[in-house]
Amino acid sequence: MKIQLPDDVLKPVARIKGGIRVSHNKITSECPVRRIAAPERVVIPMLQHIGAPCTPVVKPGDKVYAGQLIGNSDAYISAPIHSSVSGVVKSVAPVVTVGGRMINSVTIENDGYMEYDPSIEPPQVHSREDALKAIRASGLVGLGGAGFPAHAKLNFPKDVEIDTLIVNAAECEPYITTDYRECVENSWDIISGIYTLIEYFGFKRVAIAVEDNKPEAIRVLDKIAATDREMGNIIRLIVLKSKYPQGAEKMMIYTVTGRKVPPGKLPSDVGCAVMNVGSVAFIARYLKSGRPLISRTVTCSGSAIAEPSNLRIPVGTSAKAVIEACGGYKTDPYKLIVGGPMMGFALYSDEVPLTKQNNALLAFAPGDKGVKPERACIRCGRCVAACPMHLTPVFFADKLKKDPSPQELSDLGAMVCMECGSCSYVCPAGKPLVQNMRRAKDIVREGMKK
Ligand code: SF4
Ligand code: SF4
Repeated sequence: MKIQLPDDVLKPVARIKGGIRVSHNKITSECPVRRIAAPERVVIPMLQHIGAPCTPVVKPGDKVYAGQLIGNSDAYISAPIHSSVSGVVKSVAPVVTVGGRMINSVTIENDGYMEYDPSIEPPQVHSREDALKAIRASGLVGLGGAGFPAHAKLNFPKDVEIDTLIVNAAECEPYITTDYRECVENSWDIISGIYTLIEYFGFKRVAIAVEDNKPEAIRVLDKIAATDREMGNIIRLIVLKSKYPQGAEKMMIYTVTGRKVPPGKLPSDVGCAVMNVGSVAFIARYLKSGRPLISRTVTCSGSAIAEPSNLRIPVGTSAKAVIEACGGYKTDPYKLIVGGPMMGFALYSDEVPLTKQNNALLAFAPGDKGVKPERACIRCGRCVAACPMHLTPVFFADKLKKDPSPQELSDLGAMVCMECGSCSYVCPAGKPLVQNMRRAKDIVREGMKK
């Protein structure tokens, strides 16, 4: 299907339809990013992205440098993985990871020297192909939490015109402030990354999108846009009204450009690419240093954390070590979550390693229980009004009781659900609506395999 691109101007709309207002609780917004000491050992899973897992290219006993390649894959949707410390490989074996899956992982004992791979040098980039190759080699995956390999996202067909790059700084999930700190602390990396992307991918305009609850980020980003007015005049700062899940890719494209990505289609089908602001800044740093993605910023917050903070952690650091770097637990936590409270994963233990994808670690005290006791549906329709994808979550709950076929669930739009959790959040009856949607999607996926 050929989609008609609108004319040459951005058409921001006021706000998304559906969605919810949530308490922001961004209590770490004024906490500068603090680098923590690398732990005695890191556990580095061979799957830290959407796509195919990597195959380890090291074995127990091998000496490795920081930044050295330790896992790779021939698959197109994948991203290489590098050691986050220098030291010795202790084991290559499956471990339990965030989300509960057993993933083959490389455990490295840190020698404390943080000796970088001497073969690392800035990549030579003269063309779009060079840029794609370099971005793949960097191991970059979407740092906003989605974890999609960045080179695959930027490798749109040459005959498709992608006129608009949206730099996503919305960070609409409560508690998380990593993108906010990126904007405040590393604004020149952001502008440098934007110009690199313009140079090699030919974007005609760039919109930096941020929600209106981040005044200091807006001030800094406005300076970037003002600098650009004297250079290329193609960067626009778009300040959006705060609403969850505005940072989701399809929502963002709609609010910034007025374009709708149809179900089953990609941002490139409506001439857009969306990149997280931290990913854009990383590209600038990588092209200068050649150092791959081996550390990331994580917000560690919540009512059970003694000193909520923003930390720079080596990939493969355990959740436990991150919490200890924040003064430990103030009280026994009722719930641990990796990612935001709306879309994150509950942890059963703090012994799991954090990866490139994980932008937050939250621990909540017992008094902070957000779970409502489940009762009968009162047909209030709030879940329908809250769904930004115009689904009817309450129907799925009813359908799933009757052993539905994959086709029935697909026809109801199961695969359109982005699992944002807005329906569950607003339901006064405490229904597990987002869990129902996940189940419905699993049934459809299973059906597609047959
Ligand atoms: S989780 Fe799915 S069904 Fe529920 S509000 Fe979000 S998109 Fe709609
Ligand atoms: S929000 Fe909850 S109670 Fe209201 S219609 Fe939806 S499922 Fe029923």
